[in-house]
Amino acid sequence: MTAAIADVVLVGGGLASAAAAEAIRQDGFDGRVTLVTDEPHHPYERPPLSKAVLMGDAPPDTAYVHAPDFYADHDIDVVTGDPVTGIDRHAGTVTTASGTERRFDRLLLATGARPRTLPLGAGLDGVVTLRTLDDSVDLGRRLGETRHVTIVGAGWIGCEVAAAARHLGAAVTVVDPLATPLQRVLGPRIGAVFADLHRANGVELRLGVGVTDLRGDDAVRQVVTSDGSTIDTELVVVGIGVVPNTELAERAGLGVDDGVLVDETLVTADPRIFAAGDVASAWHPRYGRRLRVEHWANARHQGAAAGRNLLGAGEVHDRLPYFYSDQYDVGLEYVGLAGTDDDVVVRGDLAAREFIAFWLADGCVTAAMNLNVWDVVEDLEAIVGSGRRVDRSRLADPELPLAEVRS
Ligand SMILES: Cc1cc2nc3c(=O)[nH]c(=O)nc-3n(C[C@H](O)[C@H](O)[C@H](O)COP(=O)(O)OP(=O)(O)OC[C@H]3O[C@@H](n4cnc5c(N)ncnc54)[C@H](O)[C@@H]3O)c2cc1C
Repeated sequence: MTAAIADVVLVGGGLASAAAAEAIRQDGFDGRVTLVTDEPHHPYERPPLSKAVLMGDAPPDTAYVHAPDFYADHDIDVVTGDPVTGIDRHAGTVTTASGTERRFDRLLLATGARPRTLPLGAGLDGVVTLRTLDDSVDLGRRLGETRHVTIVGAGWIGCEVAAAARHLGAAVTVVDPLATPLQRVLGPRIGAVFADLHRANGVELRLGVGVTDLRGDDAVRQVVTSDGSTIDTELVVVGIGVVPNTELAERAGLGVDDGVLVDETLVTADPRIFAAGDVASAWHPRYGRRLRVEHWANARHQGAAAGRNLLGAGEVHDRLPYFYSDQYDVGLEYVGLAGTDDDVVVRGDLAAREFIAFWLADGCVTAAMNLNVWDVVEDLEAIVGSGRRVDRSRLADPELPLAEVRS
């Protein structure tokens, strides 16, 4: 199959594309590889954008996936600042905004996602989202100058930005319609741990209310919430989730349903076209349905698998979802996928913020999270991955080694 492939085009300049490019060359492919991104930068990783880079603790260039020479050394053409505007599947070409046409034998769609926005405060300065390196540098500067920031949304981005803003000395109010931060993923009991964490670090949480208006003249000055109260503020960060960038795939007639539809080998209905990372809604054999995972590890592993698969490897991508987060002095890893009704069993001390939480459905562990407990993720992956029933008391018993729980 490889012999027939001369041109590989990777659309998007995020981690998934970069990982694909790396894997393609590692596999010994000697045809042309072109990575096309609409951003002015070479591929970079996003997690530092809400952590060290945002806080000014690491320079922006530490976020790059590869050193600058990597692409030239591996004969990978990187085209920056030129979005792909169309795919002609019949001709086997992509067209970019500059009018350049490129042929492809294999194409990867790794266009990622963009932040959801609020239909409020149009034209007001100081209403921002966080997705790109430039967003992060700009937000870090603004946070350093602002006295008060309001963060809309207590998800991962909102929580991490709140922690960074406190680090930079700003007063912070977080607004979210749910009763605890991170409730959609962690549920109310573990969400309450994050409410305590943020309050202990001086964040004002306005939970159970939505934002109904943003007011100001040129710049935002006030946030209005659904209970009729107002928050005087100088900056608003909107962190209310993302929308996958599926438009190219849709226009090309590929299947799209909250993500580009691909099978477990990350191929679309067109055998030449693959998708990976935040934009991909991929069939997951374990769950028997498609998942679209918006996390770093997924972009890295799916990107690499897609790179190998577009050369013909046929590798099934069936890794458990995994993510991590850092907020203040708390670090966590989460593996698996819990349902909102799943039971929670805790090993350790919630109040001391040092524990492992397990989510269970029908006696089987669906997900696990280690918070300020380290070097356990392999055990947790084995416990979640086994799909076996596990006794709750064994999960909760801190004296019983996890290696025994998993065996
Ligand atoms: C601030 C922030 C912090 C995060 N922190 C964590 C974390 O702590 N832990 C974790 O697990 N995950 C985290 N994530 C999520 C993780 O970074 C993403 O899952 C990952 O970046 C997805 O990579 P991707 O390559 O699929 O997409 P993206 O990183 O979105 O890259 C897609 C790229 O394609 C470009 N593009 C889009 N359309 C076109 C087009 N038509 N032509 C050319 N280029 C195009 C985009 O501009 C972008 O550069 C964080 C995300 C953000 C934004």
